[in-house]
Amino acid sequence: RFITAEGIDGAGKTTHLDAVEAWLRQRGHGVLRTREPGGTALAETLRELVLHRPMDALTEALLVFAARRDHLQQTIEPALAAGTWVLCDRFTDATFAYQGHGRGFDTGVLAALETWVQQGRQPDLTLWFDVDPAVAAARRSAVRTADRFEAEDLAFFRRVRDGYAARAGAAPARFVRIDAAGAPDTVRQAVLAALETHAAT
Ligand code: ATP
Ligand code: C5P
Ligand code: MG
Repeated sequence: RFITAEGIDGAGKTTHLDAVEAWLRQRGHGVLRTREPGGTALAETLRELVLHRPMDALTEALLVFAARRDHLQQTIEPALAAGTWVLCDRFTDATFAYQGHGRGFDTGVLAALETWVQQGRQPDLTLWFDVDPAVAAARRSAVRTADRFEAEDLAFFRRVRDGYAARAGAAPARFVRIDAAGAPDTVRQAVLAALETHAAT
């Protein structure tokens, strides 16, 4: 099965995917941890371009979807076919949230690219780590290496958060909103409860 983690920068996605991975491994499942943009040699190269070279929102969207195409074909689809659980740190919801709502790019075009690139593939479960942008900004200030998105203001991340809310509303069957404002242990308990409900086999 295919699980994705979403949320604004600093929400706690990467931290809590560790707990998801441990939970699955305890149950004897094979797990592939991966991320977007990235997850293959080509896609990691495209990631470096997206994160560091100035470009407009269409170019950004095309590069992110090109990376996703390669990632799906080379990594995600073969793993799912082999029965491995795939844990992906960000996926297409991030494109709608960042390039769509954040940058104001046409979400109809993004939806068309989604159809072409994914051929119907969607996550089985999306853990949406939802937190106030000011709280997330305080968390990430100490740790992250700078990229182009680091320079964005709180208003940008508020739009991104609204974008996630819109995607969650449109796909309630696969989205679980995790309140990511609490202490790490509280958030981890919420993640494990979501897994018990939505991923127990
Ligand atoms: P990015 O999108 O920038 O990769 P992320 O969503 O993956 O961010 P993390 O890297 O997991 O976020 O967390 C950002 C920082 O906040 C880390 O230093 C992490 O240890 C810390 N952190 C994560 N969750 C919490 C929490 N619930 N309370 C306080 N600090 C947290
Ligand atoms: O979560 P991660 O650290 O991998 O994200 C790297 C950066 O790429 C983040 O700053 C995020 O805002 C940005 N990003 C983006 N559009 C996407 C995916 C990630 O702008 N579709
Ligand atoms: Mg992260």
